[in-house]
Amino acid sequence: MSEFSDKRVLVTGASRGIGWGIARAFSEEGAKVALIDVNEELLEEKKGEIENMGGSALALNVDVCDREAVKKAVEKVIEEWGGIDVLVNNAGITRDRLFIRMTDGDWDSVIGVNLTGAYNMTKAVINHMLRQRSGVIVNISSVVGMTGNPGQANYASSKAALIAFTKSLAKEVGSRNIRVMAIAPGFIATEMTEKLPDDVKKAYLERTALRRAGTPQDIANLVLFLSSDRASFITGQVYVIDGGMI
Ligand code: NAD
Repeated sequence: MSEFSDKRVLVTGASRGIGWGIARAFSEEGAKVALIDVNEELLEEKKGEIENMGGSALALNVDVCDREAVKKAVEKVIEEWGGIDVLVNNAGITRDRLFIRMTDGDWDSVIGVNLTGAYNMTKAVINHMLRQRSGVIVNISSVVGMTGNPGQANYASSKAALIAFTKSLAKEVGSRNIRVMAIAPGFIATEMTEKLPDDVKKAYLERTALRRAGTPQDIANLVLFLSSDRASFITGQVYVIDGGMI
């Protein structure tokens, strides 16, 4: 029996890419997974996949920017399963453009989903975790939140802020046995990076010591470790997982 048997895990941006990789990995270890995403069709498909594998899933078609909808979704999960043990703030978007051409909309939407979305989710879950006196929150940041990246002033800022959010919150809630961590992936093969021009992808790979793109499973492996009791003395840290890029 896995240590995640019957643990209740909420993953945002869970219908594809890294989020789906994380949700599937938790499900394979026996956890119940609540999938949050804006892509309703994919969401239902992925819920079906988990159920076909014998797992339990809830599909919640929610935009993490919609504070009221987020609150209702969290209440629904707690109503169905009696609680939430792990929250993975993974939903994220890019609107890459050199700063001089970046629009207010590019800035607001990226900060809105990547940073405020994680705030909304955490705000909705934290009181419950405090009462429960246990919980794990994993925020999916990025190496560019540590290094910066041309064309990503909005995205890199959102990811750097997530790291600061992680470290601050960890210090506030550690006494209640809630651990908060961030993961900073490098170049991971998903639909998000698929759309990059070939020369950009090649340049990322050349900078990666292991000379391959990471996979959602690589990221899921780290998320599961950090969420497990094996990591019970870890909190407030950011883990780079980039195949040796930075
Ligand atoms: P992706 O675009 O393949 O998947 C993102 C998912 O989030 C999609 O299913 C999308 O529908 C969902 N989503 C977007 N906006 C949402 C919203 N407002 N509310 C709810 N769901 C929403 O991206 P990915 O590559 O799997 O990235 C996942 C996370 O990992 C992101 O936070 C991203 O910034 C981060 N990350 C990715 C890489 C990479 O190389 N792919 C590297 C570092 C960090």
